[in-house]
Amino acid sequence: MSGELYFCDELNETLTCYHDKITSCCSNPNGPIYFDKYDGSKVDFEILRQKKLEFFSLFDEENIKNSPCYGCFSLRKRKPEDVINSKFKQIHVSHWTHCNCGCIYCARMDDSHGKITYRKAKSEYYDMLPVVKQLYKKDLLDRENLIVCIQGGDISVLSEFEKLVKEFFKQGLLKFHFLSNNIIYQPIIKKLLDANKGTFCTSLDCASRDIYYKLKRVDKFDECVKNLRKYAKGHSHPPITVKYIVIENVNDNIIEMKKFLDLVVYMGIKNVEFMLDNKYVFCDHSKVSIPKHYGNLYFFFKEYCEISGLKFVIWDKVESLINEYLL
Ligand code: SF4
Ligand code: SF4
Repeated sequence: MSGELYFCDELNETLTCYHDKITSCCSNPNGPIYFDKYDGSKVDFEILRQKKLEFFSLFDEENIKNSPCYGCFSLRKRKPEDVINSKFKQIHVSHWTHCNCGCIYCARMDDSHGKITYRKAKSEYYDMLPVVKQLYKKDLLDRENLIVCIQGGDISVLSEFEKLVKEFFKQGLLKFHFLSNNIIYQPIIKKLLDANKGTFCTSLDCASRDIYYKLKRVDKFDECVKNLRKYAKGHSHPPITVKYIVIENVNDNIIEMKKFLDLVVYMGIKNVEFMLDNKYVFCDHSKVSIPKHYGNLYFFFKEYCEISGLKFVIWDKVESLINEYLL
């Protein structure tokens, strides 16, 4: 290794299991891939450790241009205290494409072909349970500090959801982080939130049934509000974040945004996230322009959160895009 050295905490700590591949990060679709076209076949998961070292070996001045991480916003200068871990501290479980709604902005649309799955179903790609067992067996997961992020659609649509939760519990973890569309209430999630073993995040994106329907193509707004109130019950500061993804010509206006933030206060939730449509996040910004008025929406959202006593949350990548292109 020579010259400047680089580091990425995601590469060091995270493993992401998508329906068709096992990769490092979930925030960069071009990032390092451990197993491409993964279909559940038996593989030696020990290889993950070796591959991770290989990816890190490209993190110097001479080799960085050959790394899949080249140009990524998460890449930073390596500090003397940075150590490459042999175990992962975070795992993203996102290996299925079934969903019980059909958001017009869904990033999985190409894989799910826009179908809406109302009943519990197996992943059409592979089962996660055997993978999890193997990862623990090979000592690749940090049992004491592990954050397990289960995400995608409504997690209750996945038939192995509860089995997975129980397996992680049996083997050891620090906390769950659930990302779900929140259409079906899950008692097991409520239990984990109440026991301080989990956090919950959902995208509601609006404050009315008609706009919800336009965005999600199902009439489930009332259920979502009811479920959020149930999850929040008994908490002065519930471990819940509700997102507002700004979608052009649907909810990209201050009236809906204000109604949404008022609704969040009414539901007893304290954390709200401002998010852009993925088409403005993962794109070539020299060719695609983010609508200019999104800058005003961002300011309004942030200020109204302050007035309403809500915690404003934003992904640093989104904030840097707003700073660079809108302000
Ligand atoms: S530098 Fe970027 S692409 Fe590489 S592992 Fe980190 S987040 Fe992923
Ligand atoms: S809830 Fe998520 S997975 Fe389901 S359609 Fe919406 S964006 Fe896609």
